[in-house]
Amino acid sequence: MKESRNVESFNLDHTKVQAPYVRLAGTVKGPQGDVVSKYDVRFCQPNEDVMSTAAMHTLEHLMAEYIRDELEGVIDLSPMGCRTGFYLAVFGSQKESVIAEKLRAVLAQVVAWPDEETVPGVDPVMCGNWKDHDLAGAREWASRWIEGIDSKGWACC
Ligand SMILES: [Zn+2]
Repeated sequence: MKESRNVESFNLDHTKVQAPYVRLAGTVKGPQGDVVSKYDVRFCQPNEDVMSTAAMHTLEHLMAEYIRDELEGVIDLSPMGCRTGFYLAVFGSQKESVIAEKLRAVLAQVVAWPDEETVPGVDPVMCGNWKDHDLAGAREWASRWIEGIDSKGWACC
């Protein structure tokens, strides 16, 4: 029997999911009654595909900036250490389908991002590794995410 772990994703069977997807990873209620939801926004099939750090970094900059235009109450969007997706934390509890729809709009913007237009935050003042970026790679993963969601839906399994 599998032992239960404190970290939610350690209890997820990564061999059973089908990327790309949006999955509610957990909801917590703070002492003041605020509800915070965390979503697993997966781009790559775990243990099969992985994003380069540069492509993922550019995706992070664009998604973190523009998801806030689409969705109220965004707390954070951060890359997973395994480089297969991102975590999105928001106030309240939205349906996964709503989150997927908002992310789709942001990723469509990424796909259409022109080469000549500067990606927000890509300079030595605003970023901690500003040379490690790959816009073409970010567009490619954004496009793969949209195609996957459009063909199979946003569910993880
Ligand atoms: Zn950065």
